[in-house]
Amino acid sequence: MKTLVFLEFDNGVVKKSSIEVASFGKTVAGTTVQAVVAAPAGTDFSPLGAYGVDKVWHITAPEFADPEAQPLAAALAQAATTAGAEIIILPKNSLTDAAAPRLAARLGAGVATNVIGLQSGSSADFVVKRSVFSGKAFAYTQVEGPVRVLTLKKNAVDVVVGTILPVSVESFAPLLTAADTVLKRLSVEKTTGEILLPDAERVVSGGRGLKGPENWALITDLAAALGAATACSKPVSDMDWRPHHEHVGQTGIKVSPNLYIAVGISGAIQHVAGINSSKVIVAINKDADAPIFKVADYGIVGDAFEILPKLTAAVKNLN
Ligand SMILES: Cc1cc2nc3c(=O)[nH]c(=O)nc-3n(C[C@H](O)[C@H](O)[C@H](O)COP(=O)(O)OP(=O)(O)OC[C@H]3O[C@@H](n4cnc5c(N)ncnc54)[C@H](O)[C@@H]3O)c2cc1C
Repeated sequence: MKTLVFLEFDNGVVKKSSIEVASFGKTVAGTTVQAVVAAPAGTDFSPLGAYGVDKVWHITAPEFADPEAQPLAAALAQAATTAGAEIIILPKNSLTDAAAPRLAARLGAGVATNVIGLQSGSSADFVVKRSVFSGKAFAYTQVEGPVRVLTLKKNAVDVVVGTILPVSVESFAPLLTAADTVLKRLSVEKTTGEILLPDAERVVSGGRGLKGPENWALITDLAAALGAATACSKPVSDMDWRPHHEHVGQTGIKVSPNLYIAVGISGAIQHVAGINSSKVIVAINKDADAPIFKVADYGIVGDAFEILPKLTAAVKNLN
């Protein structure tokens, strides 16, 4: 099946979630895949050859450096049509949550979001496994029609590294109508000096078990030693112990780091809904029956006030 993937780069380096998309695309295609990438001129695409990409449609237009969903959908629809793609796969994130349905509507395609794999052994045509209800259940969804759009959940598939293919690059200038550009981003103010939570590879997160904001140095010290972002549970931000942009969960930010350390967090389902894409979850809680231990890969039962200084010192010793 002819497969087109949308890959995101950050500072000239392909994002991990996009490597997963390329690798998954190769599995779905059963052969090589083509990729659409918006990145500055001169970006090196040769590393993509290890994940099955043999052609890149390269968009250099400045408005695609940090695109809105509407023009991105227009660009992907044009690339998909030109490439004759039957399957288009995007990494699942807030941009593609908005772009994928728009893309599907333009192509008259079915769209399946939050995909975590293909259903194996199904006799039905093209069934995907999806994570639904904030990760509490799986759905098996058949996507009918000649063209399908999928968004792939982060950390859901293993990356397969193959023989490095030569990657041909074709410059691609999407044709945008006035309707595609009704939204104009005038400026973006990034939080400086902090690791952004949605992109963080490591997160140290504190809950009500920390007792108060005066104890947060225990969290920030460990985070600094690990090069991690800091996060918190909802009550912590509701009580203004920490800023609201650190609140993780169903009603907060969804994180998908390689390592999530939950300290003094009970593990309510609304919190877990925001962390269950994490690769490894470590819980520190003095209550051995706390629900967080049900989702944790590693757990320490004990007092955070005793454990954190020792853990931070041990991490510093490793550095
Ligand atoms: C509609 C709705 C949406 C919600 N959305 C979210 C959300 O997005 N994110 C979210 O986080 N919550 C959300 N909540 C709230 C959620 O239900 C929980 O109330 C909340 O997650 C609990 O926060 P906590 O674990 O920090 O506090 P607690 O439940 O009070 O847990 C504190 C934990 O710390 C442990 N502890 C205490 N002292 C120590 C110590 N010295 N050392 C180690 N451990 C210690 C305790 O054993 C306990 O497990 C939502 C609730 C609702 C109803």
